[in-house]
Amino acid sequence: MSSKVRVRFAPSPTGPLHIGGVRTALYNYLFAKKHGGDFLLRVEDTDQTRFVAGAEKYIVEALAWCGISPDEGIGGEDRGNGPYRQSERKPMYREYAETLLANDSAYVAFDTADELERVRALAKEAGASNWQYNYITRENMKNSLTLAKDEVKAKIAAGEPYVIRMKLPRDHEVRFEDTIRGWVSVNTNNMDDKVLFKGDGMPTYHLANIVDDHLMEISHVIRGEEWLPSAPLHVLLYEAFGWESPIFAHLPLLLKPDGPGKLSKRDGDRLGFPVFPIDWKNDETQETASGYRETGFYPDAFINMLALLGWNPGTEQEVFSLQELVEAFDLGSVSKSGAKFDFEKGKWFNQVYLRGMSEEKLASALKTELNSRGLHCDEKHLGTVAMMMSERATFPKDLVTEGLFLFERPSTYDEKTLTKKWSADSPKMMEDISSRFLALVTFDAASIESCFKGYLTEKELGFGKVGPSFRLAVTGKGMGPSMFTICEVLGKEEVLARISLAIEKLK
Ligand code: GLU
Repeated sequence: MSSKVRVRFAPSPTGPLHIGGVRTALYNYLFAKKHGGDFLLRVEDTDQTRFVAGAEKYIVEALAWCGISPDEGIGGEDRGNGPYRQSERKPMYREYAETLLANDSAYVAFDTADELERVRALAKEAGASNWQYNYITRENMKNSLTLAKDEVKAKIAAGEPYVIRMKLPRDHEVRFEDTIRGWVSVNTNNMDDKVLFKGDGMPTYHLANIVDDHLMEISHVIRGEEWLPSAPLHVLLYEAFGWESPIFAHLPLLLKPDGPGKLSKRDGDRLGFPVFPIDWKNDETQETASGYRETGFYPDAFINMLALLGWNPGTEQEVFSLQELVEAFDLGSVSKSGAKFDFEKGKWFNQVYLRGMSEEKLASALKTELNSRGLHCDEKHLGTVAMMMSERATFPKDLVTEGLFLFERPSTYDEKTLTKKWSADSPKMMEDISSRFLALVTFDAASIESCFKGYLTEKELGFGKVGPSFRLAVTGKGMGPSMFTICEVLGKEEVLARISLAIEKLK
């Protein structure tokens, strides 16, 4: 094992990358960067039956959007350890399977899928529902432990399909220390003789994963909790090869927001939020899924939210840039228990990032949103409008949708304000205001405010008597940002036109 920190994210291209997977990649990345190490991206595509076209491209694009860039491997450099796609490494694995056969850590098995099915069914009938190929049952199966040597040779020579299975020792306590979970101990009597090498000449995940982690000099294996049951087998494989095992850290699950169990796509659909980083479309099945990017999340906010799902900095700080995360991250403070997903919290992070943006950036975001809707705002007002709307926005699109009245005349008027605040006196008051506005030479927020307030003082009217009707007439809404700024942005002509329109419509 290398003394340098080298970690890898090793997804299988079986579909879009779940946000739990992004968090695994993120923790690997943070750990590598914190320790001046390397972060590798390796694609584990040995299971051809689960291969989905476009999934690898999706993974690369999603990580790039998040700013999690691999130093080495797919999407990074080839530093002499490639290829980094297991299907392209296929010819390398057989030799390792042979090593295990030679040192009696593995054996050849000829049982066909039908035969295995039959044995399982028989066991079930006899009340044993969980039949396993293990140190007891292998004695009655068709393998190199039960067949004569010559017979095995002859079968292989005749091209009979076979797999290579791990030969687990009987009653052996496998122990290893997981950075997050502490000591883990499993007896081999509770494990099965997993297939390491398949009939199609491909290694299984277990063999390929161990061989590659060794050859790529991976120092720490940081992965999801779902792989914890495989870890004892992996430890035994390292032992069988005589290799030093990397340090393991199994991350807690991301849980449903409203109950027990792992967060799934179905939960997202049911509760109305994405569980994938970017939009996904399977070109073969036409299946689609929505992503955080397209929902309007900033990658920094998304990453910030994910980082805190399972890791706690030990302080009150919640907002972290990627660089701050690198500095603060500590694998030892990752929690053992699952982290409940909280979309509202994610939205809060996005709001924080949006509000922290400069006027210039917000103005340009507003312009993009307006253009995509065919709406227009005078260049000189872009900054003011963007700043004003940012206080009410979670996503860039809200800069427009929360203030549509700035770009379009109201077509409807808020019912509640209409019933409660628009009175018989309102049209007259609006007319008075209109004529005062007409006389204004400068139509900016300050002049509009003093003109409006002057009217109130003169007529001895409270703000509550006029303000809501005024807002209703100009914007159609019951609430919103400062009316004086809104009026400045709309311009005198438009404000006056809207007031007469309201008087006309609300008669
Ligand atoms: N290919 C496995 C996956 O899809 C990788 C597990 C591991 O990191 O060892 O998650």
